[in-house]
Amino acid sequence: MTETSRRDQRVEQKIRCDACPVMCYIADGKSGACDRYANEQGQLVRLDPLVLMQRRVDAGGNLVPFLDPDEPWNGDLIAPQDAFVTAVGAGTTYPDYKPAPFIVSSVVDGVDMVTVVSEGIFSYCGAKVKIDTDRHIGPERAVVRVDGEPVGHVTTGEYGSQMLSLGGVNHLTGGGKKEGRVTCATLLALCNGAPVEMQIDDGSSLTLQAGQPPIINGMREERMRVGCGSATIGMFAAQWQGLVDEVVVVDDHITGVMSEHQAGKVLDWPASGIKIIGRRSTPGRYFQVAEPGTGWGGTNLTDPLAILGPFDPKIAKPGQTLLMVSTTGEQFAYYELDDALTPIERPMPDRLQASIRRIDENCEPALTSVAFMGGAGGSLRAGVTENPVLLTRSVKDALTKVTCGGAPVYIWPGGGITLMVDVTTMPDNAFGYVPTPALVAPIEFTMRQSDYLALGGHMSHVQTIEDVLAGQVGRQNDHKLAGKRRVGQKPQNPWPFEG
Ligand code: SF4
Repeated sequence: MTETSRRDQRVEQKIRCDACPVMCYIADGKSGACDRYANEQGQLVRLDPLVLMQRRVDAGGNLVPFLDPDEPWNGDLIAPQDAFVTAVGAGTTYPDYKPAPFIVSSVVDGVDMVTVVSEGIFSYCGAKVKIDTDRHIGPERAVVRVDGEPVGHVTTGEYGSQMLSLGGVNHLTGGGKKEGRVTCATLLALCNGAPVEMQIDDGSSLTLQAGQPPIINGMREERMRVGCGSATIGMFAAQWQGLVDEVVVVDDHITGVMSEHQAGKVLDWPASGIKIIGRRSTPGRYFQVAEPGTGWGGTNLTDPLAILGPFDPKIAKPGQTLLMVSTTGEQFAYYELDDALTPIERPMPDRLQASIRRIDENCEPALTSVAFMGGAGGSLRAGVTENPVLLTRSVKDALTKVTCGGAPVYIWPGGGITLMVDVTTMPDNAFGYVPTPALVAPIEFTMRQSDYLALGGHMSHVQTIEDVLAGQVGRQNDHKLAGKRRVGQKPQNPWPFEG
């Protein structure tokens, strides 16, 4: 037997998966490169169970609890009106000549509806990560690395939060092989709710996990700041009046000074002769009082007096009092001016303790939020309709609702179907990957049956939800399902047919 015929025989004993461009040959009893499909006695099997979502029903003011999320499917049926077929575990449309794995009809409040269900292979995707902290984690545009590989960058910070932009097609496929592999693994872990360690060039080391407090340079962040320094002055001005002669709220972005601030002016707060070293913006608001860092208010300050120049002797008086506090209330100090008008630290008087506690109380818990962002392109849309642009228009016209694993998504304006979804609102482990590399994410398109007909939908492949619940797969499906898994509607999500 020649080497070629031996290889042909080996290949014949395998089956070919065409659910992504890798096109694995899979031997009996083995799984493909992504571990999502396997060969079971010559049959291609999607290994992760299909996830069916059960509605959380409000019965007479009490929420009827759904069965335990993640409980394995045990064969009993969810009432069709309380069931939604998610795309988690459904399989893909690749190579795009066939309709989506499930095109499900149901009747909702007397209206015939259709939900097109498919996992999407997202080559153009990434994660936007919001880190609730006012600490400096690295300069804007600094590279974010995992295992030394670039996977994204620091982007424009938001109010009380630092932001990362991770993934994207340039890191997935535009760099080296290892860069693509590490980027894909990073996105997969983050989107599935696992912790990921990363390092920012010229910045901090981070451990980030969706829905959990960020860990910055080994320190777990506990709370967000109450506002910028200027906002904090405004919020608490009336509460500090009469209790202290001057208040400085130290903040990396805007440090606030009570006697100069507009809030102080309207309360007739007397001048204190204070001098702040920093770039004065508008009255009582100072930028760049120090370098960014992990000290007071997101600056590198360990001693807040470092931002003060000498008090003006024409205005300041010995015995004058000064409160300095950070925007989270984590750092605070109380001073009295001595005869030379030098601030001397004293114990915090009881009369100011409540205001410090109030700042602390107003700081929300610091979390890491991960939004998956991806573009549902031609291939996915072809699984819905023969004329893909009609689906895009239907989504833009709000005739078709898009969900990811049953969770609501934000659709960006403009061309294409570019979506964002909070990964914590999706079922657990909803994401997969293929080694091209790309992320696999569930996506469902729900619309009235009449609208599906109008956009050229694959009407001959529609099956009823009762049939899906009974275990039938669409005739276009070329793989078996390993099983089903039932999860409950997450309390924060609207039911996919509503809202
Ligand atoms: S990587 Fe996975 S989806 Fe792609 S062909 Fe192989 S088994 Fe199929």
